[in-house]
Amino acid sequence: MNDCIFCKIITGDIPSTRVYRDAQAIAFRDINPAAPTHILIVPIKHLDSVNVIGAADEPLMGHLFSIAKQLAAQEGVADDGYRLILNTGAHAGQTVPHLHLHLLGGAPMKHPMG
Ligand code: AMP
Repeated sequence: MNDCIFCKIITGDIPSTRVYRDAQAIAFRDINPAAPTHILIVPIKHLDSVNVIGAADEPLMGHLFSIAKQLAAQEGVADDGYRLILNTGAHAGQTVPHLHLHLLGGAPMKHPMG
């Protein structure tokens, strides 16, 4: 998508601190980190949000979680714990309309359900 910031990061037109890339996904550090480790795991395929995924995207979605597991270990946060967040739509606070998984770790976090 021409005006998508994450598509531009994927093509390299916008710089990022990349920590992972393969044929299906890229991962880079969040520009405004909410935790000591804050990485975004982003499919190369442009999908606006979970609302548009189809059955054919199921392996891709699973792959994003496998990458998260790998990066959590790489970042040294796997044992102490980390959070994976996937915001969908305005009420969830999704600000970039290109599906992405947040990996947050490195410090205790307040439970979002209280
Ligand atoms: P969300 O609110 O779930 O859509 O998350 C979007 C995330 O993208 C936010 O945490 C932003 O800080 C992050 N973000 C926006 N622009 C960039 C950028 N150029 N490089 C890295 N992270 C970004």
